[in-house]
Amino acid sequence: MSRLKIIAGNWKMNCNLSESEKLLKALVNNVKPKNGVVPVVCPPFTSLALTASLLKNTPIQLGAQDVSEHDNGAYTGDISAKMLKSIGVQHVIIGHSERRQYHNEDDQLVNSKIRQVLKAGLKPIVCIGESLEQREGNNTEQIIRQQLTGAIVGIAAKGLNDIIIAYEPVWAIGTGRTASPEMAQEVHELIRSELSKLDQALSKKISIIYGGSVKPDNAAGLLSQPDIDGALVGGASLDAKSFISILEAA
Ligand code: PEP
Repeated sequence: MSRLKIIAGNWKMNCNLSESEKLLKALVNNVKPKNGVVPVVCPPFTSLALTASLLKNTPIQLGAQDVSEHDNGAYTGDISAKMLKSIGVQHVIIGHSERRQYHNEDDQLVNSKIRQVLKAGLKPIVCIGESLEQREGNNTEQIIRQQLTGAIVGIAAKGLNDIIIAYEPVWAIGTGRTASPEMAQEVHELIRSELSKLDQALSKKISIIYGGSVKPDNAAGLLSQPDIDGALVGGASLDAKSFISILEAA
């Protein structure tokens, strides 16, 4: 079964409006459409509207980095899934380890955010992954099962059709350390086998992408693994050349 390869750039809290415009123009002018490969950029909220207009009629899709778990109302500073949808956002990163670490997001909150995103007709990119301590304590499998189950509990198989799972070992994010292709594949296989317990056919369709210091020189090895269906790219997505060379490795 051939699954879509998603290469998503998470710009995190980088790029003001003019920096965003410069990076986007370099991408728009140089990214070539490739069958089965979906490039996605996830700029900060302040650059989303600009990005939506610059990406019109290009193969590059638009993602946000977070969303509120609420519909609307007195939640100062929050942005709803419907608001994101209204400006042309297609994907939303949920449960990134930096949100879990600095904003105390837990699996229950992640689950609520996924529901909001699906209700608005957007695609969640759901991040799960173990810390170094958990890996060294041989707890990777347990943590992955727990975070995956907690994220998708109670969501009908129909909703799960639109989900993308990002396996991001926390110890590999922004550290320059990356999981070896075999190490990553092992966890991706585990995630797919957990999903198959819910729905066998669905588990074969869901894209499971890898994140954690993906760079042009390690992308091909990771992306050639049978259960690695793309990458969530942080640092390297801020450089058009690097992001494009990761796209070309897909
Ligand atoms: C990320 O932000 O999800 C990420 C994987 O970052 P980096 O590629 O910089 O490790």
